[in-house]
Amino acid sequence: MIQKILIANRGEIALRIVRACRELGIKTLAVYSEADVQSLHVQLADEAICIGGPKSADSYLRADRIISAAEIADVDAIHPGYGFLSENAKFAEQCESCNIKFIGPKYKSIKMMGDKAVAKDTVKKAGVPIVPGSDGPVENETEAVKVARKIGYPVIIKAVAGGGGRGMRIAHNDISFAKEYHVARNEAEKAFGNGAVYIERYIEKPRHIEFQILADSHGKVLHLGERDCSVQRRHQKLIEESPSPFLTSDLRKKMGKAAIRAAEAAAYENAGTIEFLVDAKGNFYFIEMNTRIQVEHPVTEECTGIDLIKQQILVANGEKLSFDQGDIKFEKHAIECRINAEDPARNFAPSPGTIGLYYAPGGHGVRVDSHAYSGYVIPSHYDSMIGKLICFGTTRKVALERTYRALSEYIIRGIKTTIPLHKAIMSDPVFIEGKATTAYMEDFMSRTPPDLFS
Ligand code: ADP
Repeated sequence: MIQKILIANRGEIALRIVRACRELGIKTLAVYSEADVQSLHVQLADEAICIGGPKSADSYLRADRIISAAEIADVDAIHPGYGFLSENAKFAEQCESCNIKFIGPKYKSIKMMGDKAVAKDTVKKAGVPIVPGSDGPVENETEAVKVARKIGYPVIIKAVAGGGGRGMRIAHNDISFAKEYHVARNEAEKAFGNGAVYIERYIEKPRHIEFQILADSHGKVLHLGERDCSVQRRHQKLIEESPSPFLTSDLRKKMGKAAIRAAEAAAYENAGTIEFLVDAKGNFYFIEMNTRIQVEHPVTEECTGIDLIKQQILVANGEKLSFDQGDIKFEKHAIECRINAEDPARNFAPSPGTIGLYYAPGGHGVRVDSHAYSGYVIPSHYDSMIGKLICFGTTRKVALERTYRALSEYIIRGIKTTIPLHKAIMSDPVFIEGKATTAYMEDFMSRTPPDLFS
């Protein structure tokens, strides 16, 4: 059995992993940057090693230092969390070759699904619908325009190595295409060191609905239902919920089966997510697979009662999943709000600094996953998420009312946060009626006076 785990991450997810390990009786080693000395995960882990300077490139992205720390502290496994090295196939391979378990899929699956063009091709062969688009990356502008015309405008230009909503551009005609094609290539080159792009039909006002997969190393692949992540700003998720207010039980069954086929095609092990776009008519299209635990995993945990981080560790330990598809019960409705240190009234400007007073809500059906506390200084070097509020109940109505109530209790002084924005969304009829698509946020912001969420 795994005895000790190195957590190659920071913030709330590092803390989440410490908590799961503690319950399993597994020791933890935190690695941290000089900017994270005060972080709660460093204080709560059994051991901690500083691995470098504040910049991610000097610490959380330094595979060599992380593996050295693992060897010094004699750990059996590394949990990568999300972001940083979590989807880096080379890092997973290095762990394996050093005889350290990587808590995630085999590096071959990461590699396959990390290249979005290969991923689409793989799932297509398994009979999973994909968004019509180019066969792999487009070589040059002339070819790209031809492909765009063939698909039919509007199209979306996406980075092969993309992630985090970056490197995507929309074009409505030949003229805007020529411009956006170059912008997308440059952005992709800068952000991912790989300028290759591919083209897809731009689905107008879709929903983003993803399925949680759990697979063991003995060939069992299950899905744990969906999460509707349509509330996004600049392709980045803000609110996630399960079940989706849009899915019928028929469509849920169809999509769940397709998600399992996609994971099987990648010979997948451990926790992963199959993302789909769903149009107004209920047609669904695979867009990508995330080969790691996701920010929004608590939504699924609260709906099903299954601890995904513990399952990840058990699967990495070679154990069989102890339940079958039919055993998974979806008994709750859960909603997650991402609490970011940003000012929604000022175009979401980052708001790092010192948290004066911090008071998290509680009570029936409320979960807060956060590394913040009174006096915590938010470093400016990392992403702005400082916590997640997850509220759940027997119906969507209860979950909505509970979310509003919990947001009203949440106190974070000294910095600006997205709490007031979430309160405004929870009282917005379009969201309440379950009608939000990925176009929702733009529309909401344009019709809502900023003083409502400042
Ligand atoms: P990333 O890996 O950067 O997160 P994704 O491929 O997962 O990129 O897409 C993120 C979001 O971008 C989707 O949830 C959706 O809102 C939007 N998007 C991506 N592809 C399309 C498309 N073909 N049509 C419309 N919207 C899209």
